[in-house]
Amino acid sequence: METLIYCRVSSKEQAETGYSLHQQEQASKKFIEKSGFVLGKIFIESGESAKTQDRTELQKMLKYMKSNVGHVTGLVVWKLDRLSRELYDFKSLELRLSKMGIMIHSVTEPNDLNAVGKLSRNMTASFAQFENDQKSERTIAVMQQACKDGRWCWKAPLGYKRVKEKGHSIIAIDTENAIYVQKAFEMAETNTYSKEEIRRELQAMGLPNLKKDKLTKMLNNVLYMGKLKVSWFPNLIDAIHEPIITKSQFYKVQKIMLARRKGGINKSSNNSEFPLKKILRCGLCGERITGSKSTGGGGSKYAYYHCSSKKNCSIRTPKAELEEKFYCLLNDMILRDNALKATIASITSEFDSQKKRQQQLIKQIKGEMQREKQRKNRLLDFMLDGTLGEDDAKVKMKEIDENLLSYEAKLEANKLEDIEIKILINKFKLFSSNFGDWWLNTMDIKIKEQIQSIIFPNSVFWDGKVFRTGKTPLFMRLSGDLNTPMRQWYPRADSNG
Ligand SMILES: [Zn+2]
Repeated sequence: METLIYCRVSSKEQAETGYSLHQQEQASKKFIEKSGFVLGKIFIESGESAKTQDRTELQKMLKYMKSNVGHVTGLVVWKLDRLSRELYDFKSLELRLSKMGIMIHSVTEPNDLNAVGKLSRNMTASFAQFENDQKSERTIAVMQQACKDGRWCWKAPLGYKRVKEKGHSIIAIDTENAIYVQKAFEMAETNTYSKEEIRRELQAMGLPNLKKDKLTKMLNNVLYMGKLKVSWFPNLIDAIHEPIITKSQFYKVQKIMLARRKGGINKSSNNSEFPLKKILRCGLCGERITGSKSTGGGGSKYAYYHCSSKKNCSIRTPKAELEEKFYCLLNDMILRDNALKATIASITSEFDSQKKRQQQLIKQIKGEMQREKQRKNRLLDFMLDGTLGEDDAKVKMKEIDENLLSYEAKLEANKLEDIEIKILINKFKLFSSNFGDWWLNTMDIKIKEQIQSIIFPNSVFWDGKVFRTGKTPLFMRLSGDLNTPMRQWYPRADSNG
């Protein structure tokens, strides 16, 4: 016949109330002595979580009790919540012990199992449960706040790792793995590779076992463009971690994937490699000039501009050569005397009207998004009152989500084209005698095209040798040749090429 002792303490409790394991043990021993029990084995839990029954000393004790049924008759604890913090756990544990003929005694709480004693035990356990629940509520509140602050609280996805910063755990770029993410988006945004091809390429680079659905998840993950998507909040949140890819990349990929899912053909509109495509026309037949790449003899690719006419037109100039000529042309352009002010006024008014159009478009898109969100709410209502089956609702919901995504992409695309006019004007002043360098050094294709259209509001014609312009640039003239700005172009009747 022996009575066991079980002690456990949390470090927080120890700091606050000063009841150490040693003190618990002493009080329990005294209790056994006072009650006339026989002291048996002592089990002391240190550093283990109180939340579950996986505690190692507790397990050891239960094992010991099992193999000593009839011999162990009692268990003394400092407080009942030592045994468990979950009501259910405590009840099941109490039942298990009573089946083995073991009574649980608490040093600090009533032990007689009359109605009051039982109530007291249940209440103790209930309070322990309450404390636990509160803890999870607090955890959720903390996580929600972290999200609001832009911190990601869950597992770091491929390309990121967890780091400590000012006491907070945040995610930071894991350079070793971020290259795979970058590669995946780079390939996806060209709209020329299948997911299987992207998957194989990443594998060849050294990323093992990336499943196709994981790749899809990766390409859908807003985390990579520095945003958080959390179900607690309706909108995307700006994250504090560094993005791995740009927003425009992300939305471009979304657009492509959406189009593919819908089975449509989304021809790539990527013209970043041929900035002159939009402005040049063929000097022989007047058709647009476009760009292409072809594989040369040694397998090397080479790019050239050529006439898009179906007729056998001979205009075909290597990309590098034509762009260098265009660069020289721009650098030969200077503003007419006193024309800077007028030019700036003209740019300003052009951009004002462009901005108005843009704002109108944005307003329209936002309206559409609002309507989709309302549709979603109605759908939820229908689902809740049973008007609509869950499966049907899910299909519709997915459709709405896809629409919302495409609107978001549209919105983002319009924001991207919104170039700050002040910056543009300042640049214009800065480069007013050096347009060529401005154009050459600008990496952003959109700005490159803006510069082109400021200087040449209409098309520029290329006949293989010289540039001509349909309309003389308003405020421009060629340096050194005050009287004849540029020769006018007019179509030739017999252009066989
Ligand atoms: Zn032509």
